[in-house]
Amino acid sequence: MSLTKADPEWFVRGAPHVWRPYCQHQSAAPALPVITARGSRLVLADGRELVDGTASWWTAAHGYNHAHIAERVRKQLEVLPHVAFGGLAHEPAYTLAALLCAFAGAPFERVFYTESGSVAVEVALKIALQFHQNHGRARKSILCFEGGYHGDTFATMSLCDPVDGMHRAFESTGVKAVHAPLPLEDGALESTLDKIGDDLACILVEPLLQGAGGMRLHSADVLKRLRKAADERGALLIFDEIATGFHRLGSAFAFHEAGVTPDLLVVGKALTGGTLPLAGTLTSEKVFEAFLGESSERALQHGPTYMGNPLACAAALASLELFGASNHSERVAKLAQSLHRIGQTLSSLPNIQSVRVHGAMLAIDLAPGTAPSSNAFAAHGAFIRPLRLGRSDVVYTVPPLTIEPADLDVLGAALLQTLRHP
Ligand SMILES: *Cc1c(COP(=O)(O)O)cnc(C)c1O
Repeated sequence: MSLTKADPEWFVRGAPHVWRPYCQHQSAAPALPVITARGSRLVLADGRELVDGTASWWTAAHGYNHAHIAERVRKQLEVLPHVAFGGLAHEPAYTLAALLCAFAGAPFERVFYTESGSVAVEVALKIALQFHQNHGRARKSILCFEGGYHGDTFATMSLCDPVDGMHRAFESTGVKAVHAPLPLEDGALESTLDKIGDDLACILVEPLLQGAGGMRLHSADVLKRLRKAADERGALLIFDEIATGFHRLGSAFAFHEAGVTPDLLVVGKALTGGTLPLAGTLTSEKVFEAFLGESSERALQHGPTYMGNPLACAAALASLELFGASNHSERVAKLAQSLHRIGQTLSSLPNIQSVRVHGAMLAIDLAPGTAPSSNAFAAHGAFIRPLRLGRSDVVYTVPPLTIEPADLDVLGAALLQTLRHP
């Protein structure tokens, strides 16, 4: 790891002690030290500014350091930064639960809070398996999809893409996951369902856009078929909208756009506008009622220590207010047009295999091992982190939804310059 004279003292002292995410430390370039961030821009220690094409892993939907969110969090900090959720209640979590259910719409009536998306998916699975137990059925199989990504914890790893995903070494971790291809080829869904038989507990999918597994798109028709299959077999349908939620594809949630309603909805990432960690598992009253009864065994036995943290809930409330304050479907439609234009320019480059845009997401497939490094993009003023999968490299951008046209131009130019001379 090479450190330069311009690096801040904290970075030089701390770098030998930090274990970075998804990082081969032996060969990786040093991380870029960030001093502050505003709008769509990261300000680096050496004075450079980068337009963030990743919105900090899809979270910073309103841009960085948004004054309204900061104000709400600051006020909450003075009143009640944290209190445990076991046996105690507080205003931000209760207000947010009601507003979040209203934001998602029918049939969602309940929210279970967690601090990360992976755990929120685990909670959804736990609810689905116990839902059947509470109905006196021992169902264990989870139908999930190739190209999927649902998190890094043990149960969620088994549900990611089994061949190409980053968790293939942990393919089987005790969860009964059965993978089907997506988009569904003729007969593939039916033959997979026949194999599972009456053991199907739930179907888990990222609706319309599979994110970290390769930025792959599928149609609403696929989701309609999954809804029908779940209904016919008495299984629950779970949509993981951790990435697609909060207007990333235009509508508030992808399931609104698709016109297909799941039984459980998992949210995270942009929930707090990129300010604090918070995720949630939303369910219908039908699912919730299966947990009522005389014994504590019928109840959901789960409760993260920092569940429903008041600061995080205050940030989420402020973020929901921002989503409500302007027409985000229109905003994302405009952003999609600009991304289409960028995509069109890129599609003429010889090394590019395919380009796709949906809402505020642009993805470009390249041959495996050929995507430029983050540093190459940074040299042109943008922060981009390509996905390196087995069958392709994917360069993608999911910028803040509030990105200014001038910053979008920087992003477009950086993509063009870097991919033209890889
Ligand atoms: C990011 C993501 C997760 C995991 O969320 P974490 O907060 O990183 O644990 C799960 N599912 C999808 C679709 C995601 O994009």
